[in-house]
Amino acid sequence: MESNMEDVANVLIIGSGPAGYTAAIYAARAGMKPVLYQGAQPGGQLTITNEVENYPGYPEGVNGPQMMMDFQAQAERFETDTRYGVATAVDLNKYPFEVTIDEEELVKAKAIIISTGASAKWLGLPSEQRLNGKGVSACAVCDGFFFKGQEVAVVGGGDTAAEEASYLSKLCSKVHMIVRRDVLRASKIMAKRVMTTPNIEIHWHTETDEILGENEVEAVRVFNNQTGVKTDIPIQGFFVAIGHQPNTDLFKGMLDMDESGYLITQPGSSKTNIEGVFASGDAQDKIYRQAITAAGTGCMAALDAERFLAEKEMA
Ligand code: NDP
Repeated sequence: MESNMEDVANVLIIGSGPAGYTAAIYAARAGMKPVLYQGAQPGGQLTITNEVENYPGYPEGVNGPQMMMDFQAQAERFETDTRYGVATAVDLNKYPFEVTIDEEELVKAKAIIISTGASAKWLGLPSEQRLNGKGVSACAVCDGFFFKGQEVAVVGGGDTAAEEASYLSKLCSKVHMIVRRDVLRASKIMAKRVMTTPNIEIHWHTETDEILGENEVEAVRVFNNQTGVKTDIPIQGFFVAIGHQPNTDLFKGMLDMDESGYLITQPGSSKTNIEGVFASGDAQDKIYRQAITAAGTGCMAALDAERFLAEKEMA
């Protein structure tokens, strides 16, 4: 491994969603000259979101990618050093901490803020993997356009699934929602929206058996989990919207996490079990998972890091 040793960063922020950029804004304004690595999906999950209507300060709503460009511009206005690159390894047992970027560059830091977010979950079917990008997707806003005027299916009954189904219903001739129970987990308003949209059909008590098609999606074979009856629904697009998992594999064995992989922080703070390492955003939040809450915890992490560095200097 080629090591390109840099000076030690005061604060290294890993991830570029609302948590990461908010941490950067606060850390930069406090004169900490933060270095922020954007990760595999610069801007994070909001870049695959359509309209954000619930972030205070945007009375008319704002589209997700635009919002993240605004976050980045604000962080850079205060001299955040924003860089492309994915953290591929970390050593939190050394101090200063060491983070490897893209498997080749070594960056040292006095404090680390983790804001690596979460990623979409998949069903785990071989056909889902084989046809990924050939009709199988986890992002209606990214890929819905390809299915204009066609029939598609959305798996899941939460707010994400309801939002995806609602978005697709405006583009596609018909949307089949595949829901494994007889109730939607989605909020009342979203549930009502999908249940009253004429071209959305909800298949209750239904699960996916297999996605059919050689080189592109042609149908989905579903089964009723009460009767066992299998049905093939002809579709061209198959959207998976069954929740998310935190992007925290990198920290396994070093940082405390719960059984689902969410980082554990000390109540009322962003502190992890390692002094000087702070966690913010969806990587540590399985309950709220909103842009505004992620931004709030990013702010907490920057303030905690600032305090940590000040105490370290005085010691
Ligand atoms: P959720 O965990 O809320 O919902 C996941 C859905 O997928 C559930 O209906 C679940 O079924 C179903 N599911 C899970 N695993 C499988 C599986 N293997 N096979 C079939 N179905 C499965 O995730 P979301 O991503 O929808 O939402 C996450 C959070 O983000 C929530 O708090 C939500 O409110 C919020 N959110 C808010 C939005 C907004 O306000 N505009 C938009 C999107 C999300 P079951 O119910 O049976 O467990």
